[in-house]
Amino acid sequence: MIIGTKTIPSAGRRVRTLLVHICDVCRAKFETFSGKCREKSIFTYCSPACLSLGRSATGPSGRLLETILVDRYGVSRATNLPQFTEARKNASISKFGVEFPLQNKDVAALGRSEESKSKKYQTRKKNGTIRRSYEEDKLYDGLCSLFGKEHVERWKYVNGWCIDLYVEPLDAYIQYDGLFWHGYDRCTEEIECFEKPVDVVIYKTILRDTQQNIWFASQKMNLIRVIGPSQIQNFLNLLI
Ligand SMILES: [Zn+2]
Repeated sequence: MIIGTKTIPSAGRRVRTLLVHICDVCRAKFETFSGKCREKSIFTYCSPACLSLGRSATGPSGRLLETILVDRYGVSRATNLPQFTEARKNASISKFGVEFPLQNKDVAALGRSEESKSKKYQTRKKNGTIRRSYEEDKLYDGLCSLFGKEHVERWKYVNGWCIDLYVEPLDAYIQYDGLFWHGYDRCTEEIECFEKPVDVVIYKTILRDTQQNIWFASQKMNLIRVIGPSQIQNFLNLLI
């Protein structure tokens, strides 16, 4: 949370305003430059690790999200929003003939094991039904021409996540992050106001990205994020 402000001298005769915070997870005191969005923050966090904890279901932001969802939309989880439940129901009826997949005995028998999740994902990979973008294809083609197609793997399943690319000679996992859906075109504080339902989806993506960053770092595995279309060529140039 923001507990105060202070000013420091800056170039010319201007002064800059700093915000003084106390981390809402670990209670450490820290400072940041001020900004319109930052000043609106209810909860603030000193590090990516605290941010991730703060946004989890039991953290302050997570609990606030639940309250907002209940107040505004009458559901406690974003995935229970009507537009999601309706789409899910229709997909289930067309695929399994029942409103909820688990009402279908065959599906229920599959269980929710990591193995079945991985199998499902392998099938999508084989059938080419994994959602991809023009930018992801461009990045893939670029990496293939640098390292050879046999050394670049798409959609690698790691710890329950589908990672866009794995480049074997670099031993690096690469994610292409679009600016809009990964929340890079706005500050997180604005997204956290959940003015539009789509903000909830973006927020969940940011949360997942943070979890991935922390997990890969903890495993000492290389995860590289290429952010936005303009970064693709820059990234490929770095590898030449
Ligand atoms: Zn902290």
